[in-house]
Amino acid sequence: MSTADVVIIGAGFAGAATAYQLTRRGVRNVLVLEREAVAGVHASGRNAALAFQVLSDSAEARLAVEGARFIADPPEGFTALALLRRTGSLLVADTAGVAQLHRSARAAAALGLGCQVIGVDDAVRRVPALARAPFAAAFWNPYDGVVDIHELLQGYLAAARSAGARIEYRCSVTGMRLEGGRVSALETAHGRVETRCVINAAGAWAGDVSEFAGIGTQTVAPRRRHLFQTVADVPVGRDWPFVWHNDLDVYFRPEGDGLLMSPCDATPHPPREPVVDGAAAQLLAEKIARAFPALATVRVASAWCCLRTFVRDERFVIGRDPDVDGLVWVAALGGHGMTTSPAVGRLGAAAVLGEASAELDYFSPARLRH
Ligand SMILES: Cc1cc2nc3c(=O)[nH]c(=O)nc-3n(C[C@H](O)[C@H](O)[C@H](O)COP(=O)(O)OP(=O)(O)OC[C@H]3O[C@@H](n4cnc5c(N)ncnc54)[C@H](O)[C@@H]3O)c2cc1C
Repeated sequence: MSTADVVIIGAGFAGAATAYQLTRRGVRNVLVLEREAVAGVHASGRNAALAFQVLSDSAEARLAVEGARFIADPPEGFTALALLRRTGSLLVADTAGVAQLHRSARAAAALGLGCQVIGVDDAVRRVPALARAPFAAAFWNPYDGVVDIHELLQGYLAAARSAGARIEYRCSVTGMRLEGGRVSALETAHGRVETRCVINAAGAWAGDVSEFAGIGTQTVAPRRRHLFQTVADVPVGRDWPFVWHNDLDVYFRPEGDGLLMSPCDATPHPPREPVVDGAAAQLLAEKIARAFPALATVRVASAWCCLRTFVRDERFVIGRDPDVDGLVWVAALGGHGMTTSPAVGRLGAAAVLGEASAELDYFSPARLRH
């Protein structure tokens, strides 16, 4: 039997960033339990690495801006490598979608980001592969970019470890013990851990952890998404921004010698390792042919998929559980958990420390009980 002041379930971005921020706030006896042999086996190690800041939810957008600032300029000693390649991003839209691009520009201004809606010629100058694409305008955000996600994840874990946190791999949490409505221990593959504070940072499995606490899944539901590494037979600029078609929901960015692409599929999926579905490649081919015809002949070199996790209102869930004393949520980070992770970890740590804020009210799990 071991003990810890705080036990974090999961060493993805949610758990790692929270461990990091807790240790920065002086909490030392932190234990991170991760079922896999290494960190980043699931969404945190296999996402598209886009630092995308002008999100539709303005509170999440503020977290993304805070996150991108941290990633662009992390504290001294966090990493030896640059974490962010500031390539910028282009959201393209057809005529009906141009009003949305202008709304994004206003939202960016409110976030302190000087972005603009640009014309087709300007967009094509930045990404020549857009030459024959049928779009009417683009939203240009020069502050977005591509992140070294493995370095970021390892940076959190290394800093937390050097500040006293313990990280145990190959250690599955299998149950939770409550006494008088409050957390008293976790059951794990390596025995019982006594603790009065558990952080549910289990990603697609956050619903399972919630079930361990006896409160059901709380609408936690993963959705599968595919990524494709492709080989292009048109010249690809290594410094191109990532390009997202706002109406058709398909994106690409340079990666290696080719392009990383996603058809933005969002198929409900149980919390288990997903397998690649051939229908996603077909969906990608159809969307690329319509959105970016100059890239219609790309060939798929490899494909993978992983799970994005949501609750019913698609808003992050961060904060103290209203019914189970000692259970703190840092979950349901959907498609933005990497970019927002520095801020998400800050909020998770604040919740553990019993702090109150309008941000924590907004993301509170209490809303799931109505
Ligand atoms: C295809 C795709 C593309 C994406 N692209 C981007 C992007 O470009 N930019 C961006 O910001 N975000 C992106 N995301 C979202 C981002 O990857 C996620 O929001 C983020 O990684 C979620 O982190 P997490 O820690 O909550 O979950 P995970 O990374 O899944 O980590 C949870 C961990 O908990 C462990 N665990 C679960 N249950 C237990 C248990 N019982 N015991 C012990 N350990 C357990 C798991 O093994 C796992 O390692 C993308 C996601 C996907 C799927």
